[in-house]
Amino acid sequence: MTDDVLSTDQVSALKTTVAGLMPGLRADLEALTRIPSVSLDAFDQAHVEASAEATAELLRAEGLDVEIVREGGRPAVIAHIDGPQGAPTVMLYAHHDVQPPGDDADWDSAPFEPTERDGRLYGRGAADDKAGIMAHLAALRAHRGALPVGVTVFVEGEEEIGSDSLPTILERHGEKLRADAIVLADSTNWAIGEPALTTTLRGLIRVVVTVTTLDHGIHSGMFGGAVPDAITALVRLLATLHDDTGAVAIAGLRSGTASDLDFDEARLREESGLLDGVDVIGTGSLLDRIWAKPTATVIGIDAPSVAKSSNTLVPTASAKVSIRLAPDEDPMDAYAAVQRHVEANIPWGARVEVHLDDQGSGFAADANGPVYDQTRAAFTDAWGVEPVDIGVGGSIPFVAAFAEKFPEAAILVTGVEDPDTRAHGANESLHLGEFEKVCVAEAILLARLGALPR
Ligand SMILES: [Zn+2]
Repeated sequence: MTDDVLSTDQVSALKTTVAGLMPGLRADLEALTRIPSVSLDAFDQAHVEASAEATAELLRAEGLDVEIVREGGRPAVIAHIDGPQGAPTVMLYAHHDVQPPGDDADWDSAPFEPTERDGRLYGRGAADDKAGIMAHLAALRAHRGALPVGVTVFVEGEEEIGSDSLPTILERHGEKLRADAIVLADSTNWAIGEPALTTTLRGLIRVVVTVTTLDHGIHSGMFGGAVPDAITALVRLLATLHDDTGAVAIAGLRSGTASDLDFDEARLREESGLLDGVDVIGTGSLLDRIWAKPTATVIGIDAPSVAKSSNTLVPTASAKVSIRLAPDEDPMDAYAAVQRHVEANIPWGARVEVHLDDQGSGFAADANGPVYDQTRAAFTDAWGVEPVDIGVGGSIPFVAAFAEKFPEAAILVTGVEDPDTRAHGANESLHLGEFEKVCVAEAILLARLGALPR
């Protein structure tokens, strides 16, 4: 591009600068990873305090004004440094809490002792999301003393337990977080060597359905055949959630379309562990099915266990159903559709109650405009390959919270992960070569946004 906002010399100078920063970034990442900052209640929260403090210290060292805020939940770090007069402000998000390590025996090296093997750094949080914090530090360090934009850093301390106090933080501290572009570094790239921008996330509702047919349990030999039991009625109701192909059959739910990337059944089977001979379900492209269409998954049933069962017509039974939603679906509209579906499919006049257990919005970026153009250019500079737009089938509640709070900001969901990262699992790891590219891309992104005409 002849009218590019950055020259190739500026791009290669930033690559060289970041390459020189990598040993320091790696050392700081290892120090953060050694702090077992598991935000789940059952774990010692002193470590979460320590990771907030360590994050704050790294940001103070770059000259940012730093505060640690708590709004009824875990400590979050907010830091800011002004840019040149009139330059845009970019907010950089990551989280300093981590998932529990699980069973140490499942790890090939201790979860909180970062260890390199075959170009990957293993450790709980080494990728998710302490490498996200360090990518932001890389961008700040690459421009030390001459930031091209204003930067606000927000590092949350409870992402892994659902960001419960995030709405209050946004309400009370939102003005400090206001920005023209928001980089949320907590997602994944498409493959090693293939960068991605996450432009859609699915929403979610979780419902509990309770079916009752009798006011007490009765002998199945005496009344079975004429009197329905609640488990059979519940199972028949649950069976109506899908058609024969396994596609969701709840009328009125929206269905989206995913971007057109190569993703074949072999890769799906490999990544999911689907057994040979078991069908793939649903209709449409595989990526539509896992990123953009609704799902209905029965995740739990309350009924007598096999071991404790007896020859009884069971009077009442419940199921919890997790329903993923198309990225642009309104969760309350979806809940209304589920209620209508249940009412229309009640077997044998059974009493049925539906209760909403949880809900969260999805996200669908309008991934166009100058900020997205510069982001794609920065990724291309770093990898030598243009990024692809991907969806993520899961839900990240904080993305919707930011999109709602700052509707005029461009929301960029980036990340340090790759398909082998195993975030949340045993042997979580960061690909160190890809990590450097993530750092380069973010440093170049700040330069590009600062160079946009204004
Ligand atoms: Zn994360």
